[in-house]
Amino acid sequence: MTGGLDAYAPFVGAGTIEELRLLGDQLRNRRVQNINSTAVGGGVAEILNRLIPLLREVGIDARWDVMRGGDEFYAVTKAIHNGLHGKPVPLTDQDVEVFRQTTEQNLRTLELSDDIVFIHDPQPAGFIKRRAPGSRWIWRCHIDLSSPWPAVWDFVRESVEHYDVAVFSAPQFSRTLPIDQVLISPSIDPLADKNRELDPHTIDSVIAGLGIDPSRPLVTQVSRFDRLKDPLGVIEAFQLARKYNDAQLLLVGGSATDDPEGREVLAECRERAGTDPDIHVVELPPTANIEINAIQRASTVILQKSLREGFGLTVSEALWKGKPVIAGAVGGIPLQITHKYSGILTHTVEGTAYWIKQLLNAPEFARRLGENGREHVRQNFLLTRHLRDYMLLFLYLDHLGESLVGLGADGRGR
Ligand code: UDP
Repeated sequence: MTGGLDAYAPFVGAGTIEELRLLGDQLRNRRVQNINSTAVGGGVAEILNRLIPLLREVGIDARWDVMRGGDEFYAVTKAIHNGLHGKPVPLTDQDVEVFRQTTEQNLRTLELSDDIVFIHDPQPAGFIKRRAPGSRWIWRCHIDLSSPWPAVWDFVRESVEHYDVAVFSAPQFSRTLPIDQVLISPSIDPLADKNRELDPHTIDSVIAGLGIDPSRPLVTQVSRFDRLKDPLGVIEAFQLARKYNDAQLLLVGGSATDDPEGREVLAECRERAGTDPDIHVVELPPTANIEINAIQRASTVILQKSLREGFGLTVSEALWKGKPVIAGAVGGIPLQITHKYSGILTHTVEGTAYWIKQLLNAPEFARRLGENGREHVRQNFLLTRHLRDYMLLFLYLDHLGESLVGLGADGRGR
């Protein structure tokens, strides 16, 4: 659906597309095998879905395998995920055994003979034990590892230390490791339904369908109903700001049916909103990309009042639509927003309320923030930049091969 690399030229210029093709020429026919744990759902699968065809288009022999695992394995990897985020989770001998067995089962059927093996996140991290001599291995981590639960990190690290390079989304997400580390931010696709231009009619009908008055200011937060996204703080900040300004609030999040905590948080939001006709708490299915796009485009101010955050892709999505964004200064958000230049960074409910009021009263300043934010995203967080960074990483790994040839019995040179 992306219409190939040339379709990105209107956003990044024909020169950038040409540069990508030249980089691809340097990597022609290089075999790159990506492995993750899910074909659909989640940001990793979404990025792979879009990047693999572009890598192939520039001449790289990229492919993508999805590992297999049972419920028991995914229960363990969910615990590992939470542990890496800092939650004190016990990792029992049985858990470790389940992880090792699933790793072995996958290794029996997967062929791992490509020049570069690109492993995404912790689930397939143990595959490194089947590394072929001369191949290069990348571990791509999307998780914030700044304060992991030690036992869980120790377990994952045992595998990670054998890779050539680890890739993180933000500098503060990384850990001290005996291998090279690089920073590669995620990206958004300007041609995806979530981000592409929409005609005014589509935007109007989505907004009307939600019962929102298009003639009054709209303050929005798009997020899973998760305490770390602080939706109750958003309601509180809105209520403070609304003492001075007429506005409506829309809190919109994905369907929470499979997440007990999400259901609880959604219920708390509904309770806090009470019967206030200007606070809309809306649940949307995960496929509602055009709706999210329309909501962001119809908003006057967009919030992302997170208390903790990964990269925070919703911020790039909102900035790309030229919207003024007020967001918590956590995770990858400060990479996307320079305070008072390309958005607003806040730390408290009161600070958020203050800036909602300010931006509603200073539309010209708000417009400039949005404009600068869009330009920052255009330069740094579009899919084409992601493609370029991955290709530069592959070239770096080639160089590693040349300069360290013969230094290590396993061909790794370290
Ligand atoms: N999202 C969505 N529907 C929702 C809520 C979120 O499609 O109801 C999308 C959102 O547009 C973004 C992603 O989910 O693309 C969330 O990514 P982010 O990095 O902001 O936060 P995460 O949910 O991964 O913590």
